[in-house]
Amino acid sequence: MAKGIMIIVEQRNLQIRKVSLELLSQARKIADATGEPVVAVVLGQGIDELAATVAASGADKVILIDDAKLAEYTTGAYTSVLNKLIRKEEPQAVLIGNTAVGKDLAPRLAQRLGVGLASDCTGMEADSNSFLTFKRPIYAGKAFAHLTSNVRPIMATIRPNTFPVAAPDAARQAEVVKEAAEIDAADLVAILKEVAIAASKRPELTEANIIVSGGRGMKGPENYNILEDLADVVGAAVGASRAAVDSGWKEHKFQVGQTGKTVAPTLYIACGISGAIQHLAGMGSSKFIVAINKDPEANIFNVADYGIVGDLFEVVPLLTEEFKKL
Ligand code: FAD
Repeated sequence: MAKGIMIIVEQRNLQIRKVSLELLSQARKIADATGEPVVAVVLGQGIDELAATVAASGADKVILIDDAKLAEYTTGAYTSVLNKLIRKEEPQAVLIGNTAVGKDLAPRLAQRLGVGLASDCTGMEADSNSFLTFKRPIYAGKAFAHLTSNVRPIMATIRPNTFPVAAPDAARQAEVVKEAAEIDAADLVAILKEVAIAASKRPELTEANIIVSGGRGMKGPENYNILEDLADVVGAAVGASRAAVDSGWKEHKFQVGQTGKTVAPTLYIACGISGAIQHLAGMGSSKFIVAINKDPEANIFNVADYGIVGDLFEVVPLLTEEFKKL
């Protein structure tokens, strides 16, 4: 009999990704309502210390699979180990963050398990008939599909910043189980050289607490330095609208919106961005939105908590200077 909500926890350099904490928080809520336990699985090398964080974030059971072959993510090894574990544990649902790793791992794993996958979901609810229902945007965000499955486990990837992270409860206790990594020889891939992660002194867009974002109003790639100066003073990530990305001013990984990243920082500063619905889809749940735009009729002012009608080339450097004084 299938039991529990399994979260595949993503960690990099022993730092748990925020999306995994979001999934644990939401799974905890559903677990409290349905009585199903939350089972968190962590793969990697030297990961013992992560068990306490995962337990404090809502897990009832933490499964650690610690092996040198899992130190870096590889599709084959992770799929092999998780396929066997899920067959053994028989969870009702398996949830993975819709990150680069999640997008690679989840379809492969679903295929091995012979189940369907609800991918890139932006909502999840307990359902009395089928246990869980997922919401995902379709037709370029014009409509939502609500998906579930009678087959177990129900599998889904959830977009980062869909759920808030609950405050950790250090007093929470979880059963911690260590499992051996059973990797089929055919799935073993060796990383011969290195895993290259682009070095950046700024926080990652989806995990940033403050984002300074620029749109077509930036007028060209050479002007992003004024946003970068502001970002460096306040410890922010830099984002962009699709118009800026399509113009080749910023790489796609910086795009915020329906076809870019979904972000939910405490502070989002939109500079020269009109506030198209597709942009709002990616940043509308930011806690405070500040808009700088020379057009007082710009739609971004309808969602902004604070609006500055003015030329961003004058306003942004002034803001930078003021923040430097703090
Ligand atoms: P514009 O709409 O051109 O706005 C530029 C703004 O800058 C204007 O409001 C102007 O007043 C202001 N401005 C100009 N000069 C200055 C100045 N000197 N100082 C201050 N303000 C100034 N868009 C996204 O952003 N993300 C997405 O993921 C996304 N996905 C999409 C998916 C689909 C299927 C479709 C159809 C569209 C998508 N778009 C997305 C595009 C979206 O519809 C808009 O075209 C885009 O967001 C506009 O970007 P913008 O606000 O930078 O440019």
